[in-house]
Amino acid sequence: MAEAVDVAVIGGGIAGISLAYFLSPHRSVTVLERETALGYHSSGRSAAEFAFRFHSAIVGRLAKVSYPFLTNPPAGFTETELLKRRGNLLIADAEKAERLAQVFAEEGAAGPGLERLTVDQAIERAPILNPAYVVDAFYDPDCWDIEAENLLQGCAKGARGNEATIVNKAEVLAARREVDVWILETTAGEVRAKTVVNAAGAWADRTATLFGLKPLGIVPYRRTAITVDLPAGIDVGALPEICEIDEVFYMKPEAGRLLVSPADATESEPCDAQPEELDIAYAAWYLEQATTVAVSHVAHRWAGLRTFASDRVPVVGYSGEKEGFFWLAGQGGFGIQTAPAMGRLAADLVLGNTLAADFGEQGLTAAMFAPGRFE
Ligand SMILES: Cc1cc2nc3c(=O)[nH]c(=O)nc-3n(C[C@H](O)[C@H](O)[C@H](O)COP(=O)(O)OP(=O)(O)OC[C@H]3O[C@@H](n4cnc5c(N)ncnc54)[C@H](O)[C@@H]3O)c2cc1C
Repeated sequence: MAEAVDVAVIGGGIAGISLAYFLSPHRSVTVLERETALGYHSSGRSAAEFAFRFHSAIVGRLAKVSYPFLTNPPAGFTETELLKRRGNLLIADAEKAERLAQVFAEEGAAGPGLERLTVDQAIERAPILNPAYVVDAFYDPDCWDIEAENLLQGCAKGARGNEATIVNKAEVLAARREVDVWILETTAGEVRAKTVVNAAGAWADRTATLFGLKPLGIVPYRRTAITVDLPAGIDVGALPEICEIDEVFYMKPEAGRLLVSPADATESEPCDAQPEELDIAYAAWYLEQATTVAVSHVAHRWAGLRTFASDRVPVVGYSGEKEGFFWLAGQGGFGIQTAPAMGRLAADLVLGNTLAADFGEQGLTAAMFAPGRFE
């Protein structure tokens, strides 16, 4: 009978793989991923943005803890810069002008880097903007493109270098506990583990039920993105991210094209999410409203799931319901940009360590993430 590994991680997205990276120097780790490739689901479908604003205060602080790793990763982690400054242009039409002024007043006080722009200045930064749409704007320099695939692969390489095993085509189908070991039945055979980590993304609740645990109400929501070509003469790579002030839609350069998302959030079953025609049409419509670009052809379209706990804070920690079961779920729309912090935080909690000083400096505690708040 195969010896039990210390930790089996279910899910080969950024959550599971970043945990494997930080945990593998200390414990034997096996990652079990159902698909043929890592990052097939949400982690391969993100808009690859890193920012301190948006989401919530806790997410902003997790991003701050992640920032030093991303700007100065360990030697050999990646050949590519993980963060590239993009800048974010927040815009409002006439209806939202007051709202933008209010957001700028609130955030400008906390973030002195924000710059209020005239419409002309906004158009100078983003020449595609429609002067008939934009009434007010401000610029946030603290927004970066994050190299999501390099981050994922860097973590996977590092974990393997620490003797972690990553198994694709290994769907966990059933589990039982014998004495102090979980026995997992997978499509790649039986795996025995002292501790199991549920990093199954949209399937987190469903996966917990395989272990006889209650679901915690962690719900996937579909989000869509399209890319379009811009007219000749527009240097797409030089554009900032452009974001409606309430994130009704956003757009940003993506591999020589413009990515546009209608920022949809439609509740979904866990699944291989596909874009709906209506959401694609919304994306094109927002682009045509806010800019002078006419959409004649959508080059690429996709959808992915953003999976949230009801309070929108990730769920990280040991279950109080069953021995040896650890949650790492609910990374919502920020799982890439917070992965260095979340992977390290989860590793420390798996090991039973107190959190490192940089979490405390940001006012982050283990209790904020504990699954016990829902159990
Ligand atoms: C359109 C879109 C835009 C986004 N933009 C951003 C952004 O700009 N910045 C940002 O930080 N985040 C963004 N996100 C969010 C980010 O992508 C997610 O938070 C992150 O990818 C979640 O990672 P994960 O590992 O939890 O989930 P996933 O990547 O979905 O990984 C979970 C894995 O678990 C596997 N699995 C499930 N059940 C089993 C089982 N029983 N056995 C074995 N394996 C199993 C699945 O196959 C899957 O690969 C965006 C998401 C979307 C959809």
